[in-house]
This record gives sequence, structure tokens and C-alpha cells, in this order.
Amino acid sequence: MQFENTLSFAQNLDANDKLAHFKNQFHLLTNNNKHVVYLCGNSLGLQPKSARLAVEQEFSDWAKMGVEGHFNAKNPWLGYHHFLTENAAKLVGAKPIEVVVMNNLTVNLHLMMVSFYQPTATRYKIIMEAAAFPSDLYAMETQVKHHHLNPENAIIELIPRAGEHTLRTEDIIDTINANGDSLALVMLGGVNYYSGQAFNMKAISKAAHEVGAYAGFDLAHAAGNLHLQLHDWEVDFAVWCTYKYLNSGPGGTSGVFVHEKHANSAINRFAGWWGHDEGERFQMKKGFKPIAGAQGWQLSNAQIFPMAIHKASLEMFAEAGIENLRAKSELLTGYLEYILNNFSEHLTVITPKNKEERGCQLSIIVKENGKQLFDFLESENIMPDWREPDVIRMSPVPMYNSFEDVFLIGQALNKYFSKNK
Ligand SMILES: *Cc1c(COP(=O)(O)O)cnc(C)c1O
Repeated sequence: MQFENTLSFAQNLDANDKLAHFKNQFHLLTNNNKHVVYLCGNSLGLQPKSARLAVEQEFSDWAKMGVEGHFNAKNPWLGYHHFLTENAAKLVGAKPIEVVVMNNLTVNLHLMMVSFYQPTATRYKIIMEAAAFPSDLYAMETQVKHHHLNPENAIIELIPRAGEHTLRTEDIIDTINANGDSLALVMLGGVNYYSGQAFNMKAISKAAHEVGAYAGFDLAHAAGNLHLQLHDWEVDFAVWCTYKYLNSGPGGTSGVFVHEKHANSAINRFAGWWGHDEGERFQMKKGFKPIAGAQGWQLSNAQIFPMAIHKASLEMFAEAGIENLRAKSELLTGYLEYILNNFSEHLTVITPKNKEERGCQLSIIVKENGKQLFDFLESENIMPDWREPDVIRMSPVPMYNSFEDVFLIGQALNKYFSKNK
């Protein structure tokens, strides 16, 4: 599409956007009654109006029924996680048996590592991004130490080529092949939180499997953002949080994917009563018998309140359709890229230009005084986020951002750079 930097052009795209009405289902931010262009959906998604109603339902049933809410609540708590499975599976391109919602992200990453990182004397290495999110770095480091191995030898870090900001798929695959027989696991983000780069999960999983390793992904920045096909890509496991693109509230619950091929395997795991055969759970017997599939990794009974929010949010995603959201997202982020390129003498977009290699986020390095520009944007009711040492991240999300929002970013940048040449 040939973009134009005019209000009428942006408004025309909004008028033709079949998803535009979804933004009315959110609490959009304002400042002194002025619209705030919220660009932090990659960090904490805005609140869907249905979230409060969903939680109030559970409060009300708890108040009226006490423990009997497990059976008699509108959404009986005993099997609450089942209410989320189908929509969560659809969202990530999985079969229902491959998905469960439980716990929090880093907790789930550790649970998956217990199963999918079982190093031997010869096969013990993990490939990950040098610039992974810190929680993932700490999780990998301590998993390796848990097996009495040295992270210096066991963790292979992927680093962009000199002068580049993102990783090349061919370099990732070369690293997998170079470590072939000693490689236990490839564990990457689906989208890097800093650069906004989306990885080719299909090619990476294939390469990992060809050398006899597992492939797992942290989809914190990919779930609700990319059109994922985890089953077809043969990813072994994946984990994601629900408070970023999935708008399910601060500290919200998390999702887990375990490929169907592992559904009935006797793979090692940490167990709890909620992962035990449902027919026998209350017989309180010795001897763990896992439920087939991802549900067999559950430890505890469901966290009803965060899961109620997530249930409401997943219903919106099911209604909008992730493929429709992704189609709008490509256009919306393409428009942002076009707007930002008007200021290329002052700033560089480090996120890949190829839309297959990014989600909605663009990461920007400003040539001078990036923090000052960031503060100026906030004063203009544009709300991106700042990541040390020098990146401004902007994530127009298709669920509630508009093309007019993106146009307004350009107006604010224009104001700033005409003053600060
Ligand atoms: C946001 C994020 C986390 C946060 O982990 P929590 O356990 O939810 O606190 C971890 N890893 C990645 C890649 C993230 O983007």
C-alpha cells in the first residue's frame, strides 16, 4: 500500500478497518480528557471492559456459595481451566490437548525445563539469545547449575553480527549444526522483547530436531501478536504470559504448549494433584498418573480471578480472529514504519524491515538524546516505553490502536525535531 502522512488518509484506513470497533471495548487512557496514544501493549495490555464483569461474577458466586462454587458457580471452579483451553489453543495454532493455562510465565518455563532439559554427559548444551529477557537468562543459568553443570560451557549465546542489531536465521541454524551432538535444547523468544525481532520458529525447530535436540520458545511477546502455528511447526514446548498482548491484567496467568507427540510420553516432570488423572483426583491415592497432554503439567487448582480475566480476553481474541488481527497489525506497523522513516536522519528502526520477522513492535534508536525525545512524547500524550540502554519501543496493537494514533506519533515527532534540529 502507498501510505500518506495525512490525517484524512489515516482516518480513511480506520473507517475501512473491520476491527476498529474493538477499541470501544477497552478502557482507553486519557490525560486531562485528552486521548493518550498507548503504545505499551507489549508490556501491559489495556483493560478490556469485560474483565471487571468476569471477576465480579466470581466474587458474587464465592460470596453466595462458598466452597460449593466449585460445583455450582456459573463457571464451576473445579474444571475452570477447561473454559480457557479451546480459545487459547486456537490463538497459538495448537490442538486443545496441547495447551493449558496455569501459573505464571517464569514458573512455567522452569516446569518445561524440568521436562525438556535433561542433560547427559555428552548432550548438555542450550542455545539461547545473548540478549534474552533477564528472567529467561536467570532461568537457563540456574537450570544448568541445578544439573551441576557450568553455564559458561553449557549455554551458547547467539549474538548479532558486528554492526547488526538482530540475528540471522542462517546464523542460528549454523550454530545449531555446529553444536549438533552436544546440543540438548534450543530455547529462544518468539519475538525478542528489545529488538522486536520475530524468529522463524518452524525452521529453528526443524534444525534442532535434525541434530536430536528439543526446541522451546518463550512467547511472552509473540502470543496475541503473531499468527502462531505451534503444532504444525513442531515446536516441542512453549510458554507465554497473558498480561502483554493478551490484555489479561498485571501479573496475570500464563499459557503452556506441549506438542501432542509428548502427550503420553513418560517424560520427567514435577507433579501436583491438578495434573493427576481427573477421574481419580479426589481418591487421594499414592502414585502420580498424569492427564494426557499439557494439562498433565498442572500442579495446583486454578487461579480463578486472573483466569476469569483471561477467559474474557480470550473470548475477544476468538471473536476478532488472530489472522484478522495479524493482517491489521502488518498494515498498522507498516504505517508506523513509514511515518518513522520520515525522521531517518534522527533515528534508526532496529526491528527487521521484513514483516515475517517482526510483530507489531518497532524499536527505535535515536541518534542523540533518546531519553529526551521519550519524555517529550509523553508530554504530548504519546506513550511508548523506554528500555535501557537506548531504545524506545512502540507497539501499536491491532485490538485497540488506530491508524490515527500512528498519524499522531508523526505529528509529535515533527514538532520535536523541528525544534531540536
Ligand atoms: C515479560 C517477560 C517475562 C516476565 O516473566 P514473568 O514470569 O511473567 O514475570 C519473562 N520472559 C520474557 C521473554 C518476557 O517478555
